[in-house]
Amino acid sequence: MVLVQEVPIPGFEKVIEVIDPSIGLHGFIAIHSTTCGPALGGLRIFPYGSRDEALNDVLNLAQGMTSKSAVAGVKFGGGKSVIMGDPRSIDKAPLLLAFAEAINELEGKYIVAEDMGTTPMDMEVLQTKSKYVAALCQDTSSGDPSRFTAWGIFKGVQAVAEALWDSSSLVGKIVAIQGLGSVGSKLAEHLFWHGARLIISDTDPVKAHEIGRLYKAEVVDPSKILFADCDILAPCAIGGILNDESIPLLRCKGIAGGANNQLREPKNGLDLMKRGILYAPDFVINAGGLISAAGEFDVGGPNPIVTRDKVNAIGPLLRSIFTFAALESRSPSQIVDALVDQKLKYGQHK
Ligand code: NAD
Repeated sequence: MVLVQEVPIPGFEKVIEVIDPSIGLHGFIAIHSTTCGPALGGLRIFPYGSRDEALNDVLNLAQGMTSKSAVAGVKFGGGKSVIMGDPRSIDKAPLLLAFAEAINELEGKYIVAEDMGTTPMDMEVLQTKSKYVAALCQDTSSGDPSRFTAWGIFKGVQAVAEALWDSSSLVGKIVAIQGLGSVGSKLAEHLFWHGARLIISDTDPVKAHEIGRLYKAEVVDPSKILFADCDILAPCAIGGILNDESIPLLRCKGIAGGANNQLREPKNGLDLMKRGILYAPDFVINAGGLISAAGEFDVGGPNPIVTRDKVNAIGPLLRSIFTFAALESRSPSQIVDALVDQKLKYGQHK
């Protein structure tokens, strides 16, 4: 029996806690804003240390989705969901089937897709019980979003290179990637073919070894990857990694990666700027997956060519954000935060 109870959180439209002790299910669904449309956001399965940690994460992620949708110009709002558990060891199917019931209770205000710890196959499982599922492996669906996410990040890495070195070429540039899952592994491949040298890390040593072997990448311990001596750091795993403790120790010149909520606090964007490190705001650079999933709801259904062209625009968008930031002596995060405020206030893409 799935228990669904509302958790009142100021600033959020709806947050629910989803529990079924008989199968070990404990999770949350957070809807931050439906100002621009129903909330579309991934389901994360992660071994959170506590209920508060999971709740905090889902709130930050849902809020980030509102910003991401607003900047990407898709007609969706911000939401996200999490389930507590280690995706490598739990039996996901019963948890997903029970979670689908909670998604249904929101009657389409929240549409789920994949995120860290979930795969397109997991979306197939959810879809057997819920129609509010995107990014399935079917002809009428947009499929695995991570290939578009990774491509958008790659375009973002090039935009950072251009801003730093007046050339988007990555030949000989050293890129350090944290996390080699759906997004990080595909980014590694793009970077490899474009001549970059890679330093990589994953808490799963098998993944790290495999990517290391494929691309002759230097594999480092997960505790060292953020502080690797590199040109560009690409965080593609967890959030909150750019913070008061880590920022003074960074040895990169730019940051361009796929992880959501990389800044632990908004002020950390300014801290990076003060250290002379160019940061590509996460919800701009990693919007490819959202753009892909949103395309599924376009008239005529998903079209990978249209999606690719929209995702390609992430590069020029970032370059203009960097230009404005330089002109106004503000951080790129400050520029995009102001853009989000404007878009939400005036509903520019409704
Ligand atoms: P994933 O679960 O496929 O991969 C994450 C990888 O990171 C795993 O291999 C895991 O072992 C590794 N990892 C976890 N903690 C680590 C650590 N401390 N150090 C090194 N490696 C670690 O997830 P994904 O879909 O690749 O997503 C990665 C990030 O990108 C997440 O923050 C996610 O929210 C974000 N994101 C993903 C998409 C998408 O399309 N999948 C879209 C936008 C944003």
